[in-house]
Amino acid sequence: MSERTFSMEFFPPKTPEGAAKLRETRRQLAQLKPKFLSVTFGAGGSTRDRTLETVLEIQSEGLAAAPHLSCIGSTRENIGEILKTYKDNGIRHIVALRGDQPSGVADPGEFRYANELVSFIRQETGDWFDIEVAAYPEMHPQARGYREDLLNFQRKVQAGANAAITQYFFNADAYFQFRDECDALGITIPIVPGIMPISNYGQLARFSAMCGAEIPRWLAGKLESYHDDNAAIRAFGLDFITSLCERLLARGAPGLHFYTLNQAGLTTAVWQRLGLS
Ligand SMILES: Cc1cc2nc3c(=O)[nH]c(=O)nc-3n(C[C@H](O)[C@H](O)[C@H](O)COP(=O)(O)OP(=O)(O)OC[C@H]3O[C@@H](n4cnc5c(N)ncnc54)[C@H](O)[C@@H]3O)c2cc1C
Repeated sequence: MSERTFSMEFFPPKTPEGAAKLRETRRQLAQLKPKFLSVTFGAGGSTRDRTLETVLEIQSEGLAAAPHLSCIGSTRENIGEILKTYKDNGIRHIVALRGDQPSGVADPGEFRYANELVSFIRQETGDWFDIEVAAYPEMHPQARGYREDLLNFQRKVQAGANAAITQYFFNADAYFQFRDECDALGITIPIVPGIMPISNYGQLARFSAMCGAEIPRWLAGKLESYHDDNAAIRAFGLDFITSLCERLLARGAPGLHFYTLNQAGLTTAVWQRLGLS
């Protein structure tokens, strides 16, 4: 089996205090020796400069950084400039996304879907970048159907993606089914499960409804039963997420990508329980 990839995701902080806190979070998480740290890109390019700053800071700390780049609402010129900046700064890894249109903005720009962005990156920069794309074991919320979504995922792979990171999910079977369907289509790139630690049920429920991640009924009921007892939610969530990760790795997942939400605690705890460091 090829080497597994364990990575972590952050969002670019908005304030100097947020930046200082993220530095401390990174200092703690760096000890776990993740393969790379990725930094999200706000809808419509709203975090363009902050994503770049954060990525360069990570790089200057001697860690591998992968900026996310979303294309909806952008022009080729704009995306070309961003790619050039990353290339000039020695960044070799990128997470290529369509993104979501900011509310109130109707113009989709010059890219409609992420496969067009992947093609553009390959056309402009050859094989300079390792390109990751998003995958949706439980189906993207705007997809016309499961099969269509799978074929759209295949388009991104055919356009030149090297690997994929999934939307988070709580049902391991959704991932195994998706992976089997990809195998059947001859898709061979690593599809790394995205892992969302559980810390705050209300926030998780809102976010999951938006991004199409299903919280199984029993799990929602269990988390609700703790009401405001955040310590109990975190303790149960830690057991649940660790066991999800164990199942995924035992059945061949090629690594894990943690959505850290800029917090070190739960990611570190899961990582240590899994014996990854
Ligand atoms: C790992 C990960 C990281 C993310 N990071 C960010 C981030 O940093 N910033 C951010 O804003 N968002 C981020 N997102 C969210 C993502 O931008 C949204 O889920 C977005 O709605 C879809 O992006 P995509 O790249 O998957 O789009 P696409 O792959 O383009 O798919 C979007 C939808 O269009 C359909 N589709 C795709 N291609 C075609 C086609 N050729 N014809 C017709 N239909 C098509 C798909 O089936 C799907 O329903 C991330 C998601 C994941 C899983």
